[in-house]
Amino acid sequence: MAQTNYNPFHAAQLQFDNAAEMLDLDQATRDLLRNPIREFHFHIPVRMDDGEVKIFQGYRVQHNDARGPAKGGLRFHPQETIDTVRALSMWMTWKTAVADLPLGGGKGGVVCDPHNLSATEQERICRGWVRQVYKNIGPNTDIPAPDVMTNSQHMLWMLDEYEVLAGARYPGAITGKPVGMGGSLGRTEATGYGVIITVREALKELDISPESTTASIQGFGNVSQYAIELYQQMGGKVVCVSAWDQQDQTSYAFKKDDGIDLYELRAITNSFGGIDKEKAAELGYSVLPGDKWLEQEVDILIPAALENQITEENVSSISSKVKILAEGANGPTTPAASKIIDEKGIFTIPDFLANAGGVVCSYFEQVQSNMNYFWEKEEVLSKLDTKMTSSYIAVSNFALENDMPMRDAAYAISVDRVAQACHDRGWV
Ligand code: NAD
Repeated sequence: MAQTNYNPFHAAQLQFDNAAEMLDLDQATRDLLRNPIREFHFHIPVRMDDGEVKIFQGYRVQHNDARGPAKGGLRFHPQETIDTVRALSMWMTWKTAVADLPLGGGKGGVVCDPHNLSATEQERICRGWVRQVYKNIGPNTDIPAPDVMTNSQHMLWMLDEYEVLAGARYPGAITGKPVGMGGSLGRTEATGYGVIITVREALKELDISPESTTASIQGFGNVSQYAIELYQQMGGKVVCVSAWDQQDQTSYAFKKDDGIDLYELRAITNSFGGIDKEKAAELGYSVLPGDKWLEQEVDILIPAALENQITEENVSSISSKVKILAEGANGPTTPAASKIIDEKGIFTIPDFLANAGGVVCSYFEQVQSNMNYFWEKEEVLSKLDTKMTSSYIAVSNFALENDMPMRDAAYAISVDRVAQACHDRGWV
């Protein structure tokens, strides 16, 4: 399904160029914002459990920090590239700006496959990564967080290394920490719930009652599962989810016309979000090829797995019944496919608005950590709802006033905010 020559950074730059045209930005601002302001490339020597030393390639990219310290995740991935990290760091700048957080955008990565690394080897990679960028990250500089194949344990090892080097406690230096060790309640739910808060607002705008809708979702990991939870609480019915099968190295879609049972499926899902297909079949699910999630006759499609999934090649398989595309994943739709989706009249909630709940809650974690005072879960989730709703409404109002798609409106608002901050600081 994915195009092999797809370069996410080129896609991100193209999206930025469109926004720069819309806003008529001057050349210096364009040159500044279409590339990261700072990049760190380094090699991390790690002593493996067998005594050998292996060298891992690591990155941290700070796309822009005019509005505040850079913020964004750290990914462990065998196919990590500098261009993926650059694209994701740029998308983080727009995401923190669209949610109006006092933060910039950054992203990091290590080229490695945690499936083949022991816990102690992963710990040494985390500590080695921090040693390489220690002077360039921190609560007032750049705050890393978990992302693909990194988790709260990795964040705690990284924080510990940071604090050893700093000689003091800086709990606000890293977010995504375990609850009880500086993590925020509600962070696990935040991204998926945030996606559905934006869907709720879109349904209101389109005058559709949630109870009358159905959805199909790509992925069954953190974002997808909590999106399903809140969507079902709103009365919606999810008829299809898809997941990656590690053993077969392909994806499958799991369908039940009268609605999937979240908790039943969760019980047969591994920690990477892979669903056991034999057990699913026994439970009465139709097990279909992975692409089928996109072809369902539903009202709402939620890609919540990975980037570059809806392309010019498969966009025509989307049913004419679909009314809303809510992008839970980062960059799931290519710019060309997005144009076709707009022409089909499907209402898109763009990724950096739809999935901003994660960084909103990371910001809440940072605030709580800096204060060393932690909020109840209800307070976190209520603040999340307020922030996501106001972000959605700002984008939606701009789109209506200027008769443009939501993605263009979200770009116009966020790029304008960042450009303004660069101007106000006297950079351009
Ligand atoms: P995850 O690892 O918990 O889950 C990913 C899911 O996608 C798994 O169920 C996996 O089986 C499935 N998957 C992988 N490849 C697939 C394929 N080819 N076809 C179908 N399913 C496939 O990840 P997550 O945290 O839920 O993140 C999902 C997406 O959302 C990513 O793009 C991530 O960058 C983005 N995102 C996540 C957060 C967050 O807070 N977790 C925040 C913002 C954006």
